[in-house]
Amino acid sequence: CGTFGFVGSSPTAPTSLMDTYKRIPISIDKGKGCWVWDIQGRKYLDAVAGIATCTLGHSDPVLFSSLKKQLKKIQHVSNLYQIPEQEELADWLVRHSCADKVFFCNSGAEANESAIKLSRKFSHLYKKIETPIILSAKNSFHGRTLAALSATGQKNYQDGFEPLFDGFHFFEYNNINSFKQTISLFSENLNSIASVLIEPLQGEGGVNLGDQKFFAELREICTKREILLIFDEVQTGMGRCGTLWGYEQLGIEPDAFTLAKGLGGGHPIGALLVKENANFFKQGDHASTFGGNPFACKASLTVAKEIIRRNLLKNVRSRGEQLNKGLSIIQSKFSEHFKEVRGVGLIQGLVINQYSNLSAKDIVESSLDQSLLVVAAGQNVVRIVPPLTISSSEIKEILIRLEFAIKLCL
Ligand code: PLP
Repeated sequence: CGTFGFVGSSPTAPTSLMDTYKRIPISIDKGKGCWVWDIQGRKYLDAVAGIATCTLGHSDPVLFSSLKKQLKKIQHVSNLYQIPEQEELADWLVRHSCADKVFFCNSGAEANESAIKLSRKFSHLYKKIETPIILSAKNSFHGRTLAALSATGQKNYQDGFEPLFDGFHFFEYNNINSFKQTISLFSENLNSIASVLIEPLQGEGGVNLGDQKFFAELREICTKREILLIFDEVQTGMGRCGTLWGYEQLGIEPDAFTLAKGLGGGHPIGALLVKENANFFKQGDHASTFGGNPFACKASLTVAKEIIRRNLLKNVRSRGEQLNKGLSIIQSKFSEHFKEVRGVGLIQGLVINQYSNLSAKDIVESSLDQSLLVVAAGQNVVRIVPPLTISSSEIKEILIRLEFAIKLCL
């Protein structure tokens, strides 16, 4: 198990790239729908989708023709000028969410960076606080830029990059007492808490579903204390959970939320969306050269419209249920190794129990031998996040290949 013993594996060649990724030794060359091919022509079923990013799968014909047209028209224009594609995408996002305004950037970390800056601006301007506090959850993941990293509740990502930014404190996810204890640290000046930055479902942290009751109380406290509630929807947004936004699963609305990953369907774009009560940026406060350029916005707009046109939310819900059921059968067949299945829609995690000698990495590698791409979330969760276009027979195929990969690991 986990030897990369398949035909087509290429030895790791010397490279001019910095050694920041432990890369799996296959070179993906092309894709179609939920399938990709490596340079040796071997075909894989892709349940990673660029880590919850390729919303419409690979080489989607509608996305292709819309981007071809866009490339012929114009690719990049500075934000010094009005950009109709950007306006149109912002309108779509506002019409389909609780938000009123949008700022575009290029990635999830940058979107969260924008949210952190927004929180601080809010504090300085309205709360008259010089040293604002931002609260986030333990086990969270908000990205690798220094502020997003400072808000990330996992020490292993932070080690070696100290000093981190001041003003970040952590509470237990889904634990209202822990949240109350954390805010009580600032009881002398509760006003100093600017915002809570939190994922509606923790993706990288192990596919941990948000608890409705916790989030309802969190919403209530934030409203009462004038603390901005900001959702990191980088992984959950754009239909991944079977609703357009993760917050719909929780029955509450945040004051602001961030997007990236699935927003561009594989093209780099991120966004910060705010309600009018959190619309604090003024001209000159924040900017990005590439943020919201015509090409990225056209990609995103096409993805957005196709989600609706093809009724993909319904597909995500039914394929998600099918996947969850199938994974639960695998879990019960190998119950000495797997504790549970967690997830909603097309973000599902098979959780390895603490007594098992298996790791998520073993299963990822063994799946690769079965020409199936899956991704770990932490040490002990195998995460399955295929394109939202996946069919019922492809879900069946994922389950068959995964079960076989697990058997070979035992
Ligand atoms: N926030 C969440 C919830 C994520 O899952 C990720 C990436 O995995 C990020 C932020 C960072 O996004 P990016 O890698 O685009 O900077």
